[in-house]
Amino acid sequence: MNLDMRNVTVINLSDEQVQYLNSLDNGQKFPSNIKIPTLNIKVKYIQRQETNGRCLSANELIRKGEIICYGNGSKINRPIMYSYQIDENIHLVGPGGLDHNCFNPTCGIEKETNNFIALRDIKQGEFLTFNYFCTEYDINSPFYCQCNELKCFKQIKGFKYLTKDEKKYIYENFGLSKYLIKKYIES
Ligand SMILES: [Zn+2]
Repeated sequence: MNLDMRNVTVINLSDEQVQYLNSLDNGQKFPSNIKIPTLNIKVKYIQRQETNGRCLSANELIRKGEIICYGNGSKINRPIMYSYQIDENIHLVGPGGLDHNCFNPTCGIEKETNNFIALRDIKQGEFLTFNYFCTEYDINSPFYCQCNELKCFKQIKGFKYLTKDEKKYIYENFGLSKYLIKKYIES
């Protein structure tokens, strides 16, 4: 565990609580002790037909480097659908609605702040995405990506399972959380 993580308050969730939080389709419905992060006012949720899910999209042009979402959600000890990993057993509650994207994600994580930032200019109406390998070491509900991109990662299981070259590719193109930088250096 990183030194600076030692004193943070981490909410311990039971199996039932994880199940309950994952059953909610909207972070606004979370109990008041589970804080969802602050979003840039230029983003909004819309229903995405292809996935039948609630996705974040740009409501107006967002410039490269702008903060999309602050890293100020609650810290929890286990992953939920809306969380992303920031340390061994610490997950940060995210906004939800950020789908995985293999090779052209719009957002990345800022390692010192855990803010999500725009990796490039994002056009109005574009869905906000994120490469899950930037934060997730070992995903407990892996899935198969069907983006059909030439360089699709197919199995989205976690950073741990990538080859050295794939890890390097993610690090250099999309950035990694502070925790995964440590794991990358160790590997
Ligand atoms: Zn893919």
